[in-house]
Amino acid sequence: MSCIVEIALACPLRQTFDYLSDEPVEHWQPGMRAVIPFGSRQLIGIVIAIKPVSEISTDKLKKIEQQIDKQSFLPVEIMQLVQWVSRYYHHPIGECFQAALPKKLRLGDSDEMQTETYWALQQIPVNKPGKKQQQILDLLEDYPEGLSEKALRVQFGNVKSSLTTLAQQNVITAREHVALPVPCLELQQTVSLNNEQKQSIEKVLAEKGQFSSFLLHGITGSGKTEVYIEICREFVENQQQVLVLIPEIGLTTQFVERFRHSLAANIVVINSSVSDADRKQAWLLARSGKADIIIGTRSAVFTPMLNPGLMIIDEEHDSSYKQQDGLRYHARNVALMRAKTLNIPIVLGSATPSLETLYQVKLKRYQLLKLTKRAGGATLPNVKLIAANKTADNNGLSSVLINSIKKHLQQNHQVLLFINRRGFAPVLMCHECNWQANCRSCDAKMVVHQHQNRLFCHHCGLIQTLPKKCPECGHSELKSYGVGTEKIEQALTAIFNDIPVLRIDRDSTQRVNAFTNMVKQINQGQAAILVGTQMLAKGHDFHDVTLVGVVDADQALFSADFRATEGLAQLITQVTGRAGRGKKSGEVLIQSEQPEHPFWKNLLQDGYEAIAENLLKERIQMELPPHGFWAVWRAEAQEADLAMQLLQQVAELLQQTASPVMILGPVPALMEKRAGRYRAQLLMRSADRASLHQLIDQHIEAVSKLKLARKGRWSIDIDPTEL
Ligand code: ADP
Ligand code: ZN
Ligand code: ZN
Repeated sequence: MSCIVEIALACPLRQTFDYLSDEPVEHWQPGMRAVIPFGSRQLIGIVIAIKPVSEISTDKLKKIEQQIDKQSFLPVEIMQLVQWVSRYYHHPIGECFQAALPKKLRLGDSDEMQTETYWALQQIPVNKPGKKQQQILDLLEDYPEGLSEKALRVQFGNVKSSLTTLAQQNVITAREHVALPVPCLELQQTVSLNNEQKQSIEKVLAEKGQFSSFLLHGITGSGKTEVYIEICREFVENQQQVLVLIPEIGLTTQFVERFRHSLAANIVVINSSVSDADRKQAWLLARSGKADIIIGTRSAVFTPMLNPGLMIIDEEHDSSYKQQDGLRYHARNVALMRAKTLNIPIVLGSATPSLETLYQVKLKRYQLLKLTKRAGGATLPNVKLIAANKTADNNGLSSVLINSIKKHLQQNHQVLLFINRRGFAPVLMCHECNWQANCRSCDAKMVVHQHQNRLFCHHCGLIQTLPKKCPECGHSELKSYGVGTEKIEQALTAIFNDIPVLRIDRDSTQRVNAFTNMVKQINQGQAAILVGTQMLAKGHDFHDVTLVGVVDADQALFSADFRATEGLAQLITQVTGRAGRGKKSGEVLIQSEQPEHPFWKNLLQDGYEAIAENLLKERIQMELPPHGFWAVWRAEAQEADLAMQLLQQVAELLQQTASPVMILGPVPALMEKRAGRYRAQLLMRSADRASLHQLIDQHIEAVSKLKLARKGRWSIDIDPTEL
């Protein structure tokens, strides 16, 4: 008996598709994958349902070409989660499944876990084994399941010949075993936790087995990671899995290594530095319950777990949790939804919590856990503002800052200089005719990159050769203004010529391992200057950095984006948190051309919490997010005005329905032209969530059918983080 299978496909259409299957009904289950014909192509889809009849007559239905999975593939919980995501973010279901699956599985790979040869003890040796052989045998005694050659190699170097000899004597035996991550064979001693850490852990553990959300607000270096690890220990001992989300930063190794060295557990990692094959294996290990701890970036929030016990979101304020194209989901929101459904606790951790999360604490929806002191005797650095002066300063470095750098280097300490712009300088201009190097595709200036002798647009990626003379008037002297990491690097190298200057930004870390190698060098602890962007601000634990300098921090103070001050406060707090994390105390110097600005006084005297509290009050008063419920329609098109016209039509459609939802706009985007497209947006604000979603549901189909909608691109963004 054949049946009808409803399938979700990765295509922008907001619908599912029915196909005929020769297999009997009982061979199908929702969540399985199947190969189906679609137009002239072959696609892989996910089974949503098995139906007795279709609304489409059977002779018009195409046949499924191949059933990929013979057993269930995606657990019911993930099926429901993805369907919820599709409804909540108003995004086509097939594309939501795309986001949820590792690439290899998306492309139809088998869902069998990879196996490996494991070596285990078999019988007591007759002859006395050699030294290395004895070491191997001693270790294997602790691992009745055996260890892989890879794991033994990490410990003892080349072990091939030892293994062969031992196997020939039947002292050890080989068997195929699911390939697990290499265990850490030398666990570190646990630190003794302080009272605040202990209390935080107890409060979370008290909510085991039920939904409860926590904000772990701990200042930088207060030992949040240690708290996560101890909470994980308890869950792992109970055979419950923990999903840990971390931001997308170059270096997650440090974080993962601390987990590996503290817990005897199977820890898998799912992020962009992991190969597709390893990602697939990690996902399968999580699904099978064999992975105890899953650490991953944004999309790891969709990882299935057999025995889920807890979720943790580290640096919950980080903007990389929000996907800004395609399925515009926020991993924090998805995680919260998932924890609720699974009925398990969730911990959001940060030194600089987002206003969204602080708002939830205020509304008493999250329990607040606080770590107010630096752990292990380290103290918070002393923070000072220094007045910058464009004309007097040496390439953007004031003499106060330079002298201070000198002092710290003389003590053989490290200095970290933070500057939020890569490249050499953000402006190139001609003094004769006032020509400026602008991007031809964006409302933006081209940035000078001297190392590569090029101009780059940081918005669309346009690359040009650095002109030697003015393209307008031919004058041969072009001047660059402002500072970027390259210029600071160059200036410092000139001043401190015997001290290594390490530039850490997206340009210098493109090669595989470049970042890891620099971090290794930094951790050796010689005097050095680190110059870097955001990448350096986030989460690193460099023990020898005693001075942090912030160069050119002012831009955000005058930004048109209402979230800019929140971001600046977070950034400065995070960067200053990089100083004095070890035994040596630290100092922070912030260079500003506006040292009198009330923002600085507020931040330096009262701290992040006070500034966040003020900003939140302001937002509530002005009815801006996180107050209320928001959505934004975005449109872009090559023709000027088309995006605005399209959104005008969307606004008219929405206004046909009587609704309490406010429609604001359309207006051109802050940077109207980007990558050759003109962009506009239309805001929706509602006092309640349901009305907002209802109104979108009522009209989104009609929007997608608008003539202009096919000429330009459009999208809807729920809970936007950029307005
Ligand atoms: P955070 O994640 O809050 O920035 P970490 O967990 O990285 O803080 O801790 C900062 C440093 O303090 C780390 O080197 C960590 O090993 C150490 N540490 C954390 N808790 C303790 C403790 N209770 N006693 C001693 N050292 C600690
Ligand atoms: Zn000119
Ligand atoms: Zn551009």
